[in-house]
Amino acid sequence: MKADEAQETEKKQNFTYILRCADGTLYCGWTNSLKDRLLAHNQGKGARYTRSRRPVELVYYETFATKQEAMQREWAIKQLTRQEKLALCRIFGQKKGTDMKKYDYVLVGSGLYAGVWAYEARKHGKTCLVVEKRDHIGGNVYCEDMEGIHVHRYGAHIFHTSDRTVWDYVTRLAEFNRYTNSPVANYKGEMYNMPFNMNTFSKMWGISTPAQARAIIEEQKKAVTGEPSNLEEQAISLVGTDIYQKLVKGYTEKQWGRDCKELPAFIIKRLPVRFTYDNNYFNDLYQGIPIGGYNVIIDKLFEGCDIETGVDYLENKEHYDSLGEKIVYTGTIDAYFRCQFGRLEYRSLRFETEILDEENHQGVAVVNYTDRETPYTRVIEHKHFEFGTQPRTVITREYPADWQEGMEAYYPVNDKKNQALYQKYAQLAARETHVIFGGRLAEYKYYDMDKVIASALARTAEEF
Ligand code: FAD
Repeated sequence: MKADEAQETEKKQNFTYILRCADGTLYCGWTNSLKDRLLAHNQGKGARYTRSRRPVELVYYETFATKQEAMQREWAIKQLTRQEKLALCRIFGQKKGTDMKKYDYVLVGSGLYAGVWAYEARKHGKTCLVVEKRDHIGGNVYCEDMEGIHVHRYGAHIFHTSDRTVWDYVTRLAEFNRYTNSPVANYKGEMYNMPFNMNTFSKMWGISTPAQARAIIEEQKKAVTGEPSNLEEQAISLVGTDIYQKLVKGYTEKQWGRDCKELPAFIIKRLPVRFTYDNNYFNDLYQGIPIGGYNVIIDKLFEGCDIETGVDYLENKEHYDSLGEKIVYTGTIDAYFRCQFGRLEYRSLRFETEILDEENHQGVAVVNYTDRETPYTRVIEHKHFEFGTQPRTVITREYPADWQEGMEAYYPVNDKKNQALYQKYAQLAARETHVIFGGRLAEYKYYDMDKVIASALARTAEEF
């Protein structure tokens, strides 16, 4: 180095720099020795702010001839928004070929789990990219507008919870109506109230008191003696023969695609029987449907995120991994690991939706078809979720289906074999330190909406 060049470098030993802290926040400072200053920050001697946020990483710097210039630049950078600072770092990283990622989080999937993540992340000033393989966001709670009715495209979704924190959370995002789920069962044209309660028993046996109903059920339960060896015996031992034959057998056989005698007893642990005239399906403290449909909630949760729909993350994994500091993955866990231990099993559904030129088709949102012969299990009339008065109506028939490649995976199959397989994938997942696996597909759990929200809130509380 020539004398004048060395002098020039010496003169330029003033730096304004930005650090990315362990919690993802940015810290800006100036120094006359980048190397020493970085070391000091990482030893907890650099600044009070960085002491509790170690390790820190250098993501940006500029050189200046004088201390004054570096300090002025520091002040100017501190006036920038986080987004503006991130943009500086990104351009700098691209020039230097260093690894400053474009987003704090890449969220794979756009259901409630990813939505709560997005919302909490944004509250903490983080940036998110959402990658969704369907052509819309919202996951299974997505509603489609047909005839001015919010149609639950992936099956009827009724929000119910006893978790006050979750209820407060969702009701801050949308106003809920007073919908109470009171489905009706249709057995070959005979209509019964659900869940099994005094209205059901009165219709079935022409009785009027709880004592009469109990006596009949107890008598019928005697048809099974000893430990139930299959689902049929289990159900009869819980509710007796009449309810089993008319309201449980056909429905369950359609759901599982097998005879109840061939299904294991553990699938039905209990069948709620109520000796009151109460048709409310859920026992939870809070229940309802968001006014305007679930998209009201979804739109708020993902506000401020960059969103790409119609894209399968797993087909472009390297690209999306390069964009985010961390990945929040809500797809099927076995697919993430290329099914290396074998496939997990799921149950699926097929939906057949129809617009009918009548105002009120079935008088209630949900009718279960409990005979074996009707091929579908339920008919949903969507307008009743929001007390709609539109001139026409939209119904959806639900057909249970075995899951195969290319179909939507709706329900995990909760048996020992699949749980053991899931555990193997969960062990691999624990080693992916930059990936958070969450939601019903990644955790292989049958989560209701409130449970998925609670799970995401617990995980984000650890993160932020
Ligand atoms: P999802 O909503 O499934 O979101 C996951 C998203 O990830 C999907 O949009 C999927 O397309 C996307 N994805 C997956 N893989 C990839 C990939 N490789 N690349 C890009 N995107 C990907 N709960 C209730 O509380 N009440 C009810 O009445 C109720 N009814 C239900 C009815 C049915 C038919 C079903 C199936 C579920 C019901 N649930 C109900 C449960 C509820 O749907 C779930 O708790 C909740 O929607 C789960 O949210 P999630 O974010 O985990 O998953």
